[in-house]
Order: sequence, then structure tokens, then C-alpha cells
Amino acid sequence: MRVTPFAGDFPGVDAGAKRMSERRFISRNPIPESPIPESPNPRTPIISMRSIIIKNGRVIDPSQEMDRVTNLLIADGRIAAYDAVPGGGETVIDASGKIVAPGLIDMHVHLREPGFEEDETIETGTAAALAGGFASIACIPNTDPPIDTQGVVEFIHDRAERADNCNVLVTACVSKNREGKELAEIGQLVEAGAVAFSDDGSPVHDAELMRRALEYCSMFDKPVLSHAEIRELSQHGVMHEGLTSMLLGLSGIPAAAEDVMVSRDIALAEATGGRLHVMHVSTVNSVEALRRAKARGVRVTAEAAPHHFSLCDESLRTFDANFKMNPPLRGREHVEAVIAGLSDGTIDAIASDHAPHSKEKKMQDIDRVPFGVVGLETSLGLVVTKLIEPGHLDWPAAIGKMSLAPARILGLDKGTLQIGAEADVTIIDPNARWTVDPAKFRSKSANTPFAGWELTGRAEVVIVGGRVKFQR
Ligand SMILES: [Zn+2]
Ligand SMILES: [Zn+2]
Repeated sequence: MRVTPFAGDFPGVDAGAKRMSERRFISRNPIPESPIPESPNPRTPIISMRSIIIKNGRVIDPSQEMDRVTNLLIADGRIAAYDAVPGGGETVIDASGKIVAPGLIDMHVHLREPGFEEDETIETGTAAALAGGFASIACIPNTDPPIDTQGVVEFIHDRAERADNCNVLVTACVSKNREGKELAEIGQLVEAGAVAFSDDGSPVHDAELMRRALEYCSMFDKPVLSHAEIRELSQHGVMHEGLTSMLLGLSGIPAAAEDVMVSRDIALAEATGGRLHVMHVSTVNSVEALRRAKARGVRVTAEAAPHHFSLCDESLRTFDANFKMNPPLRGREHVEAVIAGLSDGTIDAIASDHAPHSKEKKMQDIDRVPFGVVGLETSLGLVVTKLIEPGHLDWPAAIGKMSLAPARILGLDKGTLQIGAEADVTIIDPNARWTVDPAKFRSKSANTPFAGWELTGRAEVVIVGGRVKFQR
């Protein structure tokens, strides 16, 4: 992966002022000192006033296959050195007993702005991302207006800059107005900074349009992110079609609605050589189709959402609308297949599909309630509790799926702690026990299926571009 070489003069006057306020922020929350190891290297770099040392943390960086306890130095907004020794002028963060990871990336976030500010705004969504440990998120274009013009891409970038929380990457529409009829101006959107293309919320129904999207996006080496659903099969469904839907008398969404579309999209990626990314994989057959496609060299990647490896369709017995999302919570065999796909690498990334809806919208009858749940602030805890603790993933693999993998899929110079990389860092307490309390969410919405759950593991500090943006 390409990493920008270490550059000297990154922060401007403004950034310097912000750095000062960070120091005040940190001094209000004093972190206890602990012994500093002697430097094994006499040529330890000189530390500037604008530096941060993260001391005694277990640094896990899959991009360098690194997993060791060290002192990490951040200077001028970039990763500057390992085994650094504090010189006195820098901000010291004690990470003893903590994991120091590349800034986590959530590549599937519905920020809702513009158009649905009653559910979420760019400001509240990015604050929720920081609280969940994410230094970067990619937002999905099913806004109003949808992100299908340079103007809307610029609007998002502008709002994200003003919010000044985490990095926001923009996914733009595959089709104009997300109508599935005509390709969006892919070239212009790439020029404006779009990193990927998707009509998520809806599938790209027209196979010819999907074929052209894959062809055209591959000219810019951008992935097409597929919400894989055959609407003729899923129509009017509320939950996964199976024994539970029958018992509850709710209309079902068959697994085949996803399976058929995943197979179609793999065939089109294979035919065009385009880059396909399958979002929120949730069925036995789509995991298996991905596994086979990867084995024969198709350019396909995939993500899974925490709710699909943590919950099954039986949760709907409560008729609680916070268990209604699309794709739906599936039967147990599907949950096991998603976990197996994560374990063996068939599923590359973990992404929340954070889909906030205001209380008013989620209080309707289950048949009418919109699909979707929030996820930014519970994602990491669920990964630790449901994947790492039971032994499905080890820490480096889990961190890879939440940083390096999404960075590679989206073509970002992120997800790494290599010297010279922009200093996006997440410090995780792997042993923190906490209870999910939606009242404490930074998100504007609280539609979580995990209220009251006891989870292990959460982010303690998030550093974005060398600045401490979140500290618990
Ligand atoms: Zn979707
Ligand atoms: Zn989505």
C-alpha cells in the first residue's frame, strides 16, 4: 500500500492552537504515569513540542504484521517513530494494558444529512463515530438530495470539516437520483472525491446498468458496493423467511433474495473485471458464493454487520422494531455462516450499516417501521464480545477487518501505523466491561437492538490526523 512519506510542516497556525486546547483537554483528564522503558536505540528522534507519545501500548498494526508493546511517537500529524522516549515537551498518553490500533474505519454509515436531519446529522454521526472508536467513516448516498452531483459531495466534505470530528469519505450514487435508470456522472464524482459507488438502500435492479457501473468504475479503480436484494423476492417482507416468521405471522424475506443478487453481481464482476464489494452479507449461500468467487480470482470483497453475527431472527418474537433491518436478522445457520466467513477471510471487513431513525419513525407498527439500526457506538464492543472472546477472530484479524481491509477496499492511504502515515490512531481498552445505554449515545437516534447488553472492549482515545479528538 502507498503511504505518504513523512512530511515536515503539516499543521498550520490554526492546528497549533487546536493542539494547545488538546493539551488542556488532556490535562483535565490526567492519565497516571507509569515507568518508561529505556530506549534501546541511542538515535531516538528528538521530540518536538507538537508531539504525542502513546506509551507502553500493545501496538497491533496488520499492515506491518506488528503486535508488540512499544512507545509510539506522533509528530506533526504523522506516525513518526517507535520505541520513542518522552522528552518532556510532548503530550503523553499512557496506554499500559491497552491496544493501540490504526484509526478504525467504518465503511458503511448512513449520516442522513442532507434531507433527514431528524434522524442524524453529519455532526452527530461523526461524534457517534468517534465515541465508537472510528477515525474515519464512509457515508452512504441515500440522502435527499442523494449524493449524485459534485455539489452534494462538496456539501458533505464541507459539513464534515466544520464538524471537525472524524474523517468522512463519500460514497456516491451508482445511478442518477438513485433511480436505477441512468448511470450517475461517475467521472465527475470521482473528481469531487467520491471513493466508491452504491445505490445502497436499494439494489441496482437493472443488470445492464450494474454491468456498466462495474466497467466504468473500474476505469477509475473504484469499487461498486452492492446492496444485494432481488426486490421481487423480498417485497413486503418484514423479517427473515423461516420458521420464526411463520410462527409470528410476519411476512418473510427469503435468503434467496440476497443469494440470487450476490450470484448475479459476482458473474458481472467476473465478466467485466470490475471491483465488486458486497455489503452486509447475511446468508449461507452468499458466503459460499463469495468464497468460491475469491478462489477463482474474481475481484470481489465483502463486509458483514455486527447485528448479523450477533443476533438471529428469533429476536423478532418481541415484535420490537429495533430488530428490523435489511437484510433481516437470519436463522442460526446463517449467523454461523457469517461468522465462518469472517474467520476464514471470505468476509474482508466489518461495517456497521449505521442506519439511524428517529423515535417517531421507529414507534410505528412493525409492518410500517423503516428498516435499519444504529451501530457506530456498539460495533467494536460486539466484535470483541461476539468474535474475539469466543475465539472466532484474534485481535490482529479483528483490527484488520476494521481498519486495513476497509482502507484497501476504498483505496485509502489509511488503516496503517507505518512511519510517515497520517496519525489516525484508536486506543482500545480490551477489558473494559460496559452496558449499552442508548440514552448515552452521541448519535441523534437510539434505535439499537443491543440496549442493556453487557459488552467487553471499547475505544478510550481516538486520534485523527495527530489530534486527540475523543477521550473517554
Ligand atoms: Zn443496504
Ligand atoms: Zn446501508
